[in-house]
Amino acid sequence: MARKTKQKEAIVSVLRSAESPLSPAEIQTRASLLVPSLGIATVYRLLRILKENKKVVTVEIPGESPRYEISGRAHHHHFYCRNCHQIFEFGKCTDKIEELVPKGFLVQEHEIILYGRCPSCAK
Ligand SMILES: [Zn+2]
Ligand SMILES: [Zn+2]
Repeated sequence: MARKTKQKEAIVSVLRSAESPLSPAEIQTRASLLVPSLGIATVYRLLRILKENKKVVTVEIPGESPRYEISGRAHHHHFYCRNCHQIFEFGKCTDKIEELVPKGFLVQEHEIILYGRCPSCAK
């Protein structure tokens, strides 16, 4: 298999098994276990290609560098810990979203980012 394909597959596999969105550095650390000598520049380049191909999506937190997750995951929301800057992912949703908009508005989708402290930082 071509080296580039192997590297790309390593990134996809890392993101597929990730429990939350990952930064390029975290992706590099984990993917290096599958394909040695994977540089950060390559990680950025392949992430850009994977994003263009809609294989991965970015999770944008204002003031933070983007994190990446595999596209097509089940509906979920993100929690950003203001103390350790980690992003967590939760599958639970609410059926009260429609109540947030005035009558006549049709909600088609939503994204929720919750801010606070994770269990270890809340102690
Ligand atoms: Zn934390
Ligand atoms: Zn939701």
